Amino acid sequence: MTVIGLDDTDSRERGMCTTYVAARLAARIEDAGGRVERRLLVRLNPGVEHKTRGNAALAVHTDLDPERALELARDHLDLAETADPRTNPGVVVAPGDPGDPAAVPDNSTVIPDAVADFSRAAVRDYHTVDDAVALAAAAGYETAHAGNGRGRIGALAAVGAWRAFDDWTYECISYRERERWGSERDVDAESVRRAADAAYPAVWDTIDCESGYPVCVPRTPCPILHGIRGDDPDAVRAVAADIDSEPVARRALFVTNQGTDAHLQSVDSVDAMQNGRAYRVTGDVVTAPETREGGHVFVSVGDDSGTVECAAFEPTKRFRDRARALRVGDRVTVCGEVSDGTLKLEKFAVRELVTTERVTPDCPDCGRSMSSAGAGQGYRCRDCGTTAPGKVERPVERDLEPGWYEVPPVARRHIATPLVRGGFDGDTHPER
Ligand code: ATP
Repeated sequence: MTVIGLDDTDSRERGMCTTYVAARLAARIEDAGGRVERRLLVRLNPGVEHKTRGNAALAVHTDLDPERALELARDHLDLAETADPRTNPGVVVAPGDPGDPAAVPDNSTVIPDAVADFSRAAVRDYHTVDDAVALAAAAGYETAHAGNGRGRIGALAAVGAWRAFDDWTYECISYRERERWGSERDVDAESVRRAADAAYPAVWDTIDCESGYPVCVPRTPCPILHGIRGDDPDAVRAVAADIDSEPVARRALFVTNQGTDAHLQSVDSVDAMQNGRAYRVTGDVVTAPETREGGHVFVSVGDDSGTVECAAFEPTKRFRDRARALRVGDRVTVCGEVSDGTLKLEKFAVRELVTTERVTPDCPDCGRSMSSAGAGQGYRCRDCGTTAPGKVERPVERDLEPGWYEVPPVARRHIATPLVRGGFDGDTHPER
């Protein structure tokens, strides 16, 4: 086996896309007589500033020999939009089996622990190009690059990913004819809705039901016509095939870490979080939610170690109502990337809801609110003269329930797990 990792072949303006380069490379490998076992689409740390969009890196697993694989991959680097100084493609070619060393024969070459660790850290943390180059050399891997070769970070992370992670989903990507790139996409929204409905929940995040927005159709000038995501490879392929659209030039199935929350690190305290990384942390709501300019909703969550401001930004739409429904004292688990000290909410779980509040008592005779009778002297009704020793407890109406709430599909990060996938520690309130 041979693993080819590649990354950073796209540019924001000129619209290339690393998945397309990988799909073309895989097709070329097959033309050259190689077998392609899988195409892997790995989303790396979403906080990385160099990313063009979704911080994707790609790997192709094949039986082609490593020398020939490198030759073909090098040819494909020519496709990269290297005129853009921010596009810095990299390729890493690893001989051997990409998966669990325990599952392959003793004499096979395997992905070393250090490379699997590198992949895990690439999803949750940061690397330098020098680290990637040194580790690839130590592992005996061939590399190639253009520009400053930053893409070798993602390429090496893609090489180690199959060993590093065990939760995988699928995306069937359909590509446009080249002459249409950059023009408006012709995809029949009604056929998307029908196909998506029929395949839900094996297939998710195809369409945002409430707004009707076809999430599967990108708006960027890239070669992708649509990408259908889900847990079942046959189901994502079937939905892609059922969509009426302009001609499809090429279609490829990717195994991906999309929808897996692989980026989230669980931490025990709020002060353990750092900027540029994504976390799952539990605390109490310490400030009332506040809607600020632009419609963004902010609410602070804290524990003994400190507090963090959490934001449900305007694009998260109806999720903001869930954040607004929180009250001081609620116990929650929040998930999202910390950026400039603010946790950008992707989902949260209500663990315990405040169900009562302490309020000034009402007069039992006239029903009007009593007034303070002076410091430490309780309350008194000015009209009737009735008294009460202190505040009283009153039930509060809540329109949240315990369990997990999430942003709608239209605002979902590629790597974030949709609740409909299951496996959460509590009830879920999935968005569709
Ligand atoms: P596309 O989704 O179209 O592939 P992109 O959003 O993936 O675009 P890239 O053009 O691949 O963006 O740019 C991301 C760059 O950041 C790559 O050079 C990659 O090697 C690098 N990178 C990825 N993860 C990390 C990390 N954890 N630390 C440092 N650099 C990283």
